[in-house]
Formats: sequence, structure tokens, C-alpha cells
Amino acid sequence: MRLVFLGPPGAGKGTQVKMLSKELGVPSIATGDVLRLEVASGSELGKLVKGYMERGELVPDDVVISVVEKWLKGIDVKKGFILDGYPRNVRQASELDRMLRELGVELTAAIYLNVPEDEIVRRLSGRLTCRACGAVYHVEFNPPKEDLKCDLCGGELYQREDDREDVVRRRFKVYTESTRPVLDYYREKSKLLVIDGVGGIEEVYERIKRAIGL
Ligand code: ADP
Ligand code: ADP
Ligand code: ZN
Repeated sequence: MRLVFLGPPGAGKGTQVKMLSKELGVPSIATGDVLRLEVASGSELGKLVKGYMERGELVPDDVVISVVEKWLKGIDVKKGFILDGYPRNVRQASELDRMLRELGVELTAAIYLNVPEDEIVRRLSGRLTCRACGAVYHVEFNPPKEDLKCDLCGGELYQREDDREDVVRRRFKVYTESTRPVLDYYREKSKLLVIDGVGGIEEVYERIKRAIGL
């Protein structure tokens, strides 16, 4: 299984990818998590991407393309992988095809989580993220066992700066303009699987597994 997950911010990509990657035993990477860790570490890369992320804009293609390419070269792509949050525009999608061609494999499917805007706003406004491991929770829909503490690693849970309402609006606009065209890119290649992302976390998970034949 070589999969990418697409969908608006807050659609549930991270939640589903973490569950599926564990069950399938294949590695996954969330470009947003990688970039947030770079910002937190104060690295040169972190300094470069911080402003874009705070504004809710895409960081430059060359940065994420090279992050993903390095990661793919470090794993055994023949055994499968899942990408979360990449590709976010058509250039990133076609660069991914080039990388996989060079590595001698093909993408299995692009999974699109379809969630309407009003539901997205509810999800993002209550999202809590672990500062240490990137696990996601929701104050109402998926609360941690202990207040503001990660079930998995004990790390501190916080509300992401870019989950503030004004930045969320901006991220939506970026999604509509840059990322939506990626759906057509995969549809034309008969790789797009559209999943109804509304419903409980387990319910959506079952739909995904059915769609990929598990
Ligand atoms: P969400 O899944 O909630 O939309 P992410 O954690 O995936 O958010 O991404 C957070 C931010 O990281 C994005 O707003 C963008 O600035 C940056 N980012 C993540 N992935 C990419 C990518 N593939 N291309 C460009 N920027 C990215
Ligand atoms: P994305 O990676 O697409 O930005 P996340 O997986 O971070 O999305 O989910 C966004 C928020 O919505 C989180 O707070 C998460 O706990 C919550 N969430 C995820 N899936 C569901 C669902 N099926 N129903 C309700 N809330 C959900
Ligand atoms: Zn954690």
C-alpha cells in the first residue's frame, strides 16, 4: 500500500493516517509535523518556514519536496508508506510521481477525505496537538484521558497557532486554490478514492479500509 491522504485542513487526515499506518505496519510522514518540529528546534529550515506556517500559506515547494524525497529514499518504498499533508499542489503531486518512478514503484491510491466547511470549523477550533509527538485530540470528539496531557507520550497538549480563526480562513483559501486541483490530477489517473469523512473516527476508518480492500 502506497497511499497519500488529501483533504481540507482538519478533515481528519492525521488521525486516520496514524491509525492506518500502525495497523498496516507501514511508515508514514506528516509534512506539517516535520515542519512544526523544525520550527520548534529553531533550525535554519525552521526559521525559513515559520512565517509561511504562521500565515497559513504553503511553504515553498522546494522545501517540502526535498523533505519528502529524503524520507522516501530512507525507507523501503516497496513495502509501502503513507503520506499525510503531501502533495498540496499539482507540482508536488507530479514531483511525487517522478520520485516514485525513479524508485521503481507506483502510488496505489490517493484517499480524499470529504468534509464540509462547517464541520471543519468545529474540528479545528477544538483540536489539541501534542507538542512532543504530534498526536491529535479534540476537546469534545476525542478528548485525552488526562487534561492537556498526551495519552501516548505524556507530552503537553496545545492549540496550534494556525488553528486560530483568521489563519484557518486563510488555510481554506489556500486549500481551495492550490490543493483542490490535486483531486483532478489523481482522478484523471484513476487513483482517487473519495471517502465521506463525516461521522465517528472509527466509522470513517472502516470506510477507508473498505475502499482499499482491507
Ligand atoms: P492541516 O493538516 O491541519 O491542514 P498541516 O499540519 O498538514 O495542517 O500543515 C500545517 C502547515 O504546514 C500548512 O499550513 C503549511 O504552511 C505547511 N505545510 C505542510 N505540508 C505542506 C506541503 N506539502 N506543502 C507546503 N506547505 C506545507
Ligand atoms: P487533519 O490532519 O486533516 O488536519 P486531524 O486528524 O488533525 O485533521 O483532525 C482535526 C481535528 O478533528 C482533531 O481535533 C481530531 O481529533 C478531530 N477529528 C478527526 N476525525 C474526526 C471525526 N471523524 N469526527 C470528529 N472529529 C474528528
Ligand atoms: Zn504525545
